[in-house]
Amino acid sequence: MPAETFEFQVEARQLLQLMIHSVYSNKDVFLRELVSNASDALDKLRLEALRDDSLGADTSDLHIEIETDPEARTLTVRDNGIGMSYDEVGRLIGTIANSGTAEFLRELREAKEKEAGGETDGTEGLIGQFGVGFYSGFMVADEMTVVTRRAGESQGTRWSSRGEGTYSLEKVDEAPQGTAVTLHLKPADPEDQLHDYTSPYTIREIVKRYSDFITWPIRMAGEKTPGDGEGDDGAEPAPETLNSMKALWARPRDEVSEDEYHELYKHIGHDWRPPLETIRFQAEGTFEYQALLFLPEHAPHDLFTRGYRHGLQLYVKRVLIMDDCEALLPSFLRFVKGVVDAQDLSLNVSREILQQDRHIRMIQRRLTKKVLSSLKDMKNREPERFATFWREFGTAVKEGLVTDPDSRDAILAVTTLASTHGEEPTTLHEYVERMRDGQDAIYYMTGESRQSIESSPHMEALRARDIEVLLLTDPVDEVWVDTVGEFEGRKLRSVAKGEVEAVPDEKGEEEREKQGEEYADLLGWMKERLSEEVKDVRLSSRLTTSPACVVSDTDDLSPALENMYRAMGQ
Ligand code: ADP
Ligand code: MG
Repeated sequence: MPAETFEFQVEARQLLQLMIHSVYSNKDVFLRELVSNASDALDKLRLEALRDDSLGADTSDLHIEIETDPEARTLTVRDNGIGMSYDEVGRLIGTIANSGTAEFLRELREAKEKEAGGETDGTEGLIGQFGVGFYSGFMVADEMTVVTRRAGESQGTRWSSRGEGTYSLEKVDEAPQGTAVTLHLKPADPEDQLHDYTSPYTIREIVKRYSDFITWPIRMAGEKTPGDGEGDDGAEPAPETLNSMKALWARPRDEVSEDEYHELYKHIGHDWRPPLETIRFQAEGTFEYQALLFLPEHAPHDLFTRGYRHGLQLYVKRVLIMDDCEALLPSFLRFVKGVVDAQDLSLNVSREILQQDRHIRMIQRRLTKKVLSSLKDMKNREPERFATFWREFGTAVKEGLVTDPDSRDAILAVTTLASTHGEEPTTLHEYVERMRDGQDAIYYMTGESRQSIESSPHMEALRARDIEVLLLTDPVDEVWVDTVGEFEGRKLRSVAKGEVEAVPDEKGEEEREKQGEEYADLLGWMKERLSEEVKDVRLSSRLTTSPACVVSDTDDLSPALENMYRAMGQ
């Protein structure tokens, strides 16, 4: 079959343009990306071979190999992992499926707009730290070739592209299992020896810096190392392993640098930014395990979609046995990334069994506690960092108020909410401390935005009496306020439901009674005319300037919840 030519998807083209014309300093990260993909491919093969012994794949010496050719100016990163089928190459390499990449492009566009408006000093900082996968190879190469064969299949595929909008695909007969990515490097800059990617020295440095923790050996094909003092005896040196392969979570704490943690996070979190927080601990005793957890700085855009993949990896004695292990953390903490390494677990447990496993449930409880207590610490010590976290993940964490009664108190301790008290969000505890004498409930109102809530007629009476109201704008708020019900002995009461007895005032009561008699006829008439629309018509003390408003009974759904259910078609 002859080679066929295909077009890149639009987003992929934009990204390629960015890579090809990139003038940014930190191009080294392309190697981290290719090594990271190779490592993922080895993980996938090992897991698949474990599940399916008819796969017929060779798993005896799984490794990554880097080969440089200064004459031809090529660099090849090779793995004997899972490989890709013909269809997969087109689907995985020709398009941008990775959510992180799409998000990166969006952020980049926003940064560019700000740059044009003179608001920031530009996109350099953003690009300097990114790594957008496979395509980043085009920062240093003017052509990339992939030869791959999926484990268990007999035919291979050759992909190649100059990054200019199209790529070609053809089937090949001879291909080793796994994937080889070859970069045809752009002309060398004689001024810039440090970034000569055909130099073993450069490669060794980059692998050490970004990929040392990778659990598979990263070997460099035998090549003489300049200046290592061995002299030129003409012998072929043996392949050299470049990475230490040491699991960061198993090394003594003070020996691991922050950068090393960050690189591990980028690898498992498929993120190009460092994490917001690193949490490390270990459990000793009858069931030993180590955990290294990361809180990302940004919420992925698919956090609230059904297929969202949890980011925790489960290892047993340094061997990865499950990716996206959802049993390790409750769903409201699904954004946490990291590694749990247990000593005593079977190597071939299934997801279903894990959900039932007593030890796993113990780990889950412990990790949940640990994450929530770290959040509390962060809130106390670094309120600004916590505010960033809460803005990104608060909505997810609040789900736990409904789904996870054991964590309720710990979540309430860090839940911060907008309030009429001021611009800064408040905790429930702070609200209670500010409550006025005689006020018996915590008042809240739900709605679409702070503004729409604040301009609601329901707010008038409370404003007139100077009573603080929590302004809740997340759909999940509707649900947890009902489930939680009260806090520190105070009921949570909606301003939009029933009577507001915020602070009773005697004189008002008397007057209203008198007015009630006075207006009895009018009210009776209105009630009759509106009998289809409303249950009752009452004189109210809640309004100060609006003539009338619609309120629900205390047990009825609030207007926002009614809308939410209606939107869900119920
Ligand atoms: P990401 O790794 O974040 O998914 P990449 O752009 O790095 O994004 O890679 C895109 C996809 O291409 C990967 O998800 C994987 O399915 C496939 N891929 C890339 N490199 C390899 C490889 N060496 N072996 C097998 N599959 C690969
Ligand atoms: Mg990748």
